[in-house]
Amino acid sequence: QVKRAGKNAFRFFEPSFNTHHRERIALENDLRDALQRKEFELHYQPQVSVSRRQIIGMEALLRWNHPVLGKLTPNSFIEIAEELGLIGEISRWVLEEACTQLVQWRSDGHLEVRMSVNMSALDFDRRDIVSSITDCLQRHALPPARIELEITESLMMNNAAGVAVKVKELRGAGISIAIDDFGTGYSALAYLQSFPVSTLKIDRSFVRALEGPKSNPIISAITGIARGFDLDVVAEGVEQLHQAETLQLLGCDIMQGYHFARPAPAHEALEWLRQPELLFGAH
Ligand code: C2E
Ligand code: MG
Ligand code: MG
Ligand code: MG
Repeated sequence: QVKRAGKNAFRFFEPSFNTHHRERIALENDLRDALQRKEFELHYQPQVSVSRRQIIGMEALLRWNHPVLGKLTPNSFIEIAEELGLIGEISRWVLEEACTQLVQWRSDGHLEVRMSVNMSALDFDRRDIVSSITDCLQRHALPPARIELEITESLMMNNAAGVAVKVKELRGAGISIAIDDFGTGYSALAYLQSFPVSTLKIDRSFVRALEGPKSNPIISAITGIARGFDLDVVAEGVEQLHQAETLQLLGCDIMQGYHFARPAPAHEALEWLRQPELLFGAH
């Protein structure tokens, strides 16, 4: 029995845990048709430089407008898509859509903004992953430096050698690579030497733990690593002003989170690009 969610409501739906086998099968079947039915949509969340009061980038976040369940966030369906072998097609759609959107923003004059796209570990199993990404950028005539791919630590640890080659090729083509949820995986820092990544994203669990304008060993350690390897650092999940202030004191200037903006459809993101002051109202 399924309840309708309101038009803009998000439903947290964890099919693998709390729903019956039959609902899971239904969701699988719906997922097989979702691309064709054009049920996917990207929302965008700004990454801002607090000191410069500028938008540095936009992260593309996938949404599934399910005909019955309403708007679903990726945690409720990415894993299923991976298991069903649908993730490749979905990732291709995401990159295509993100590039199309970036071209539009650029035609509105926003030439400096960077688009961040999340990748699945399985994308890196594809032999043609590098060429399919560089082809996509070429077709859209986008400078590679304006695209950042977000990958997780665990992706780099499994099959490290194979992934390293592809990361190097992507970086060689001028594409940026960010490590998402940095610090949450079981990883040896040594991989930073063999993976020429560009950005570390501080996981929001570390940001949530910030209390008052106090030193924080994990955040200081991550910003220190970033400085040492000459990488950018972005804090995720910044929800409160005091967190933003403390992060700045600890050497992190680029932030993303509800304090500045929630992920939103492209037309709203364009308003932020045109008027970034909107994001800094609380300061
Ligand atoms: P992520 O890449 O770490 O993205 C950040 C998540 O945190 C997003 O959840 C975002 O909406 C949420 N968030 C942003 N600011 C705040 C905040 O201040 N507080 C809190 N509590 N949350 C915040 P979302 O959109 O549900 O995405 C979840 C995950 O799904 C992403 O985590 C990413 O790993 C994955 N994902 C999203 N889009 C795609 C995609 O296009 N392809 C693939 N393969 N994975 C995707
Ligand atoms: Mg991400
Ligand atoms: Mg993250
Ligand atoms: Mg995450």
